[in-house]
Amino acid sequence: MSECIFCGIVAGTIPADIVYEDDDVLAFTDINPAAPVHVLIIPRKHIATVNDATADEKDILGALLLSAKTIAANHGLTESGYRVVTNVMEGAGQTVFHIHLHLIGGRVLTWPPG
Ligand code: 5GP
Ligand code: ZN
Repeated sequence: MSECIFCGIVAGTIPADIVYEDDDVLAFTDINPAAPVHVLIIPRKHIATVNDATADEKDILGALLLSAKTIAANHGLTESGYRVVTNVMEGAGQTVFHIHLHLIGGRVLTWPPG
C-alpha cells in the first residue's frame, strides 16, 4: 500500500509526531487538529475501512480502543473526557482509507457531531 499516507507513516517514510506505539498500533498528532488534543490511532496493518475489517483482526481492532484509553490518560483526559470516533466512507467524512480512530479532547465537545 505504498500510496497510503498512513502506511507511509508506519514505514517511517512520511514524518509524524508519534505519541504512542506498540506491536499493533501507531498513534500520532493530526496534521489539522480539531481540538487541543487530536490524535489519530491506526493499526500498523493496512485495513482500508471498518467495512473491510474481519473477525481475524479483532485483536488489532481491540488494541486500537485500548490504546485510546492509554493515550487519553497520557494527555490528562481520563476524567475531563474525550471522544473516540471513526469515519467510515466518504459520506461520513473519511478521507484517508486506512482505518483510524480520532481521539479528540481538551475542550468541551458538543453532541451530535455534524
Ligand atoms: P478522516 O477524514 O479520514 O476521518 O481523517 C483523516 C485525518 O487525517 C484528517 O483529520 C487529516 O487532518 C489527517 N491527515 C491527513 N493527512 C495527514 C498526514 O499526512 N499527517 C497527519 N498527521 N495527519 C493527516
Ligand atoms: Zn495504509
